[in-house]
Amino acid sequence: MGALKTQPSEAFEALVDSIEDCAIVMLGPDGLIQSWNSGAQRIAGYESGEILGRHFACLYTEDDIAGGIPGRELTEARRNGRVKATGQRVRKDRSTFLADVVITALYDHSGALSGFGQVVSDVTGRAEAEHRFRNAMEFSPIGLGLIALDGKWLTANQALSAMLGHSEEEFRAMTIQDIMPDATPPQLYQQISDLLQDKIKSFQLERELLRKDGSTFWAILSVSLVRNERNAPQYFIGQAQDITERKVMETELSLASERMLEAKQAAETANNAKTEFLTTMSHELRTPMNGILGFAQLLETPVFGTLAPKQGEFVQAILRSGRHLLDLINDILELSKIESGKLSVSVERVELPPVMKSVISSLANMAEANHIALSENTFAADRGAEDGGAEDGADDALPAVLTDRVRLIQCLINLGSNAIKYNRPGGRVDFGYERLDATRVRIRVTDTGIGIPEDRQHELFQPFNRLGAAQMAIEGTGVGLALTRRLVEAMGGRLGFTSVRDQGSCFWIDLPVHARDQQGAANDDVRQAGRASKLGGFTLLYAEDNPSNMDLMRSIVETLEGVRLIEAIDGASAIALAKQHRPDVLILDLNLPDISGYDVLQALRNRPEFADTQFIALSASVMPSDLRRGRQAGFSRYLMKPIDISLLMAAIEDALAAKRAGSK
Ligand code: ADP
Repeated sequence: MGALKTQPSEAFEALVDSIEDCAIVMLGPDGLIQSWNSGAQRIAGYESGEILGRHFACLYTEDDIAGGIPGRELTEARRNGRVKATGQRVRKDRSTFLADVVITALYDHSGALSGFGQVVSDVTGRAEAEHRFRNAMEFSPIGLGLIALDGKWLTANQALSAMLGHSEEEFRAMTIQDIMPDATPPQLYQQISDLLQDKIKSFQLERELLRKDGSTFWAILSVSLVRNERNAPQYFIGQAQDITERKVMETELSLASERMLEAKQAAETANNAKTEFLTTMSHELRTPMNGILGFAQLLETPVFGTLAPKQGEFVQAILRSGRHLLDLINDILELSKIESGKLSVSVERVELPPVMKSVISSLANMAEANHIALSENTFAADRGAEDGGAEDGADDALPAVLTDRVRLIQCLINLGSNAIKYNRPGGRVDFGYERLDATRVRIRVTDTGIGIPEDRQHELFQPFNRLGAAQMAIEGTGVGLALTRRLVEAMGGRLGFTSVRDQGSCFWIDLPVHARDQQGAANDDVRQAGRASKLGGFTLLYAEDNPSNMDLMRSIVETLEGVRLIEAIDGASAIALAKQHRPDVLILDLNLPDISGYDVLQALRNRPEFADTQFIALSASVMPSDLRRGRQAGFSRYLMKPIDISLLMAAIEDALAAKRAGSK
């Protein structure tokens, strides 16, 4: 670049004078100030009258003047045509500022030096920003580096040096490629090219980086591009964060969940094997037990001769133990059937009074032997009278329930015999039943017995746990209650209890009122009494792999007139059957053998033909987060397993009613 060879014209001078952003100053060959524009006045504070004719060194610090800097800069400008410098300059008020200075030598037509042009910009702000940026960068805990457009490192901060093992010095001799353990992936090139074309502002990627010592580690790289004010790309800012720990955790987590899954599967397999074993074993034991009991009974009879008194006692002992063993075997068999889902219940409309009669007569002998009085009590008739009497007589106030008759009798005998066994001589056992609300009836078995201490109540439904009853010489297997509860739940009911030590216990069973009988409760706060039977012409698809639950649903749907049930045993067939039959309601077990109920929902929900379809979830996991997820996914209801029939019926009715309203 050559020096200026022309004298500035007047127009040019006027232009120069109007520039305010930087000081433009003409110097004579001797360094005296000849012109002073408004920028110079703004930056250095002198009026042109005050400074014209003075030596330009008055703008330098005393140290610089003592060091001969002003003169040296002029010499250099003369030698090279131009000199660039950055340094402190002094204002009129003696304050200093950081200046970027360019001094250009000017020559006249004859080639003789006519003076110097000096352009000064105040860069204090920029320098501060740069300083701050450098500091922030240098001491940032995140690895940071600046990379030129050609991939060469311009600089790297301490954190990045520590992370990769190279000094800043070494970085400057490297390219970005040098910290990659393998060839740069094409996707990185693509993203860099997108950055350069301003398609994206930054990008992140996870990849392994190479340390100086040859080892590698996982990092997140974030890259952005710095552009100048004309939007031209300047350099890249790269950020690296070591995520080794997170990676390790991720791997451990996925390993752990894999192991958990394996453990769960192993437990399930073991459990199935156990159930299988118990079922087979109980069957096998029953045959010889029948032999033992049969022959012991034969010994008891005088047909084959009389026994000595001691022998008679022994035979009684054999019979007692044999019967106990048979009870145990039968209980275990039932329990294992329930646990493996092989026990089937069939619910139907059942009137309670005959059931109670049959239970009480079965228990009469046992009660008498234990000196216990049995009583039966129903509050339903009283209640009807209070309400002004039910129109069709007292029988209507005692609605029929939806249950498995034989199983219910079995359950009540179990509860009743406990109430007798764990009672005291002269005690009482009462069988009561009443309507709980529009949809439920509660049966209570109340005793005046020994009660169950509060601190042991949580052990109550554990199979084989007798809570210390064995020491009291009361016969039992410790399986009855566990079995009873599972049976009640399999029928869609609920079992619960209250008990006070030394005062007695009350065990109750809640059962759903049969749909037809819900009508009778018109003066209760009935929400939808009797609607079920009128819901004709609807189709319900139930996806469920557990046969007992399917059994239960079948019996329930049988009570709903005109509702057709379509059964799917897994997710794939649920989807296929739904497309074929277009059901009004889909009840999906979330835990299907192939895909989840969520997947089924996903596959169907957005299809126009399912726009009016109601989806109901059925699941054993009912944490608040599960419910939230269910709702978000689009289920209109989320029901808990084991199934509560009254809730299920209400849900079906609601769904059908909504469907009917929607199709109007
Ligand atoms: P068991 O064959 O021992 O009677 P259950 O499963 O029926 O087994 O009951 C478990 C235990 O619960 C009993 O051993 C007894 O300790 C306690 N229990 C059950 N019912 C009653 C009751 N009505 N009053 C007091 N304790 C009871």
